[in-house]
Amino acid sequence: MQVHIDPDVCQGHTLCALAAPQIFLLREDDGHAYVTSPDVPRGQEDVVRRAVATCPEGAISITE
Ligand code: SF4
Repeated sequence: MQVHIDPDVCQGHTLCALAAPQIFLLREDDGHAYVTSPDVPRGQEDVVRRAVATCPEGAISITE
């Protein structure tokens, strides 16, 4: 699985980082989310799907 955040859509609500803090980090300057690698580690797929569902902007997408 790979995960992607659209930086033009993310509004920095931080919900993804709460749902999956191992995957989503927040920029110090604007609070927007980023991932250090698009590759989701094994065992983290469900929390990433949860983060996708919680993002109010629909900024997170995944490819299986
Ligand atoms: S929940 Fe969505 S809008 Fe909020 S920081 Fe994460 S990706 Fe951005």
